[in-house]
Amino acid sequence: MSIAGNVGLKDLPRICPLISRRVQPAADPTETRVVQVGPVRFGEARPVVIAGPCAVESREQTLAVARAVKAAGADMLRGGAFKPRTSPHDFQGLGIEGLKILREASRETGLPIVTEVMDPRLVDTVAEYADMLQIGSRNMQNYPLLIEAGKSGKPVLLKRGMAASLCEWLGAAEYVAKEGNLEVVLCERGIKAYPSGEYSRNVLDLNVIPAVREETFLPVIVDPSHATGVAGMVESASCAAIEYGSQGLIIEVACDPEGAGKPKCDAAQAISPRTLQNIVRFIEARQESRGLRKAHAI
Ligand code: PEP
Ligand code: MN
Repeated sequence: MSIAGNVGLKDLPRICPLISRRVQPAADPTETRVVQVGPVRFGEARPVVIAGPCAVESREQTLAVARAVKAAGADMLRGGAFKPRTSPHDFQGLGIEGLKILREASRETGLPIVTEVMDPRLVDTVAEYADMLQIGSRNMQNYPLLIEAGKSGKPVLLKRGMAASLCEWLGAAEYVAKEGNLEVVLCERGIKAYPSGEYSRNVLDLNVIPAVREETFLPVIVDPSHATGVAGMVESASCAAIEYGSQGLIIEVACDPEGAGKPKCDAAQAISPRTLQNIVRFIEARQESRGLRKAHAI
């Protein structure tokens, strides 16, 4: 008996031939295709650190966090202008005003920005302001959105759906690639699996990192903030992800997460700039101990 729609890793060459290592004969079996966002290069020896607020809440808050993450050693700035919230009554983001604030923060700090786009009709608008488009977990299988992101030609950060298999995730990346856009970085952000919700928000699937690297030449990074949902776990999760082969991190930071800077969104998982600096130092010390030079300098 076979179950319709039941697919496994053996089906990947058929599902995603454009990004499959097994199909692309020219691809070196150990190399990652570099995805470049301004001066930042994903897929080289040095992991890329993206950091910033969960949401752009105001100009002051975003500029303060941008300066702090730059000083802590981050390579790129994150921040949501369009927020996917569980309740329609919660803060939804500042929209285009938020994109303008991100652009200003990028101009001042020199950090390229990644921000989420949720609506296929807004891809061109978001692409005007952002250096990289984020497709969120809830939209990983929004195929019209993936196609528009592919057509934009902008680098795409494709988050894993919260219950997505590797085949579904790489199938989603193939939709972007099929539009001629191979500038895709994959992002593991925790999955819903027993016992998620009890002591952490999600379950960080570290095992998927080597699996991704074996099946595709696209770079893969980890979001320890949404994967844990607990600020006190973010540093350990970051270090573990790097040890497991993650080629970068995307981390939520607030200037004073437990005080005046308490975020409107995802407050429990925001780390301080000091903790971010510890994570950057861990990466740098690890690189040095391995004799690997800094892959890029901003
Ligand atoms: C985010 O990074 O802002 C976000 C909403 O993450 P996810 O899509 O992984 O939930
Ligand atoms: Mn968040």
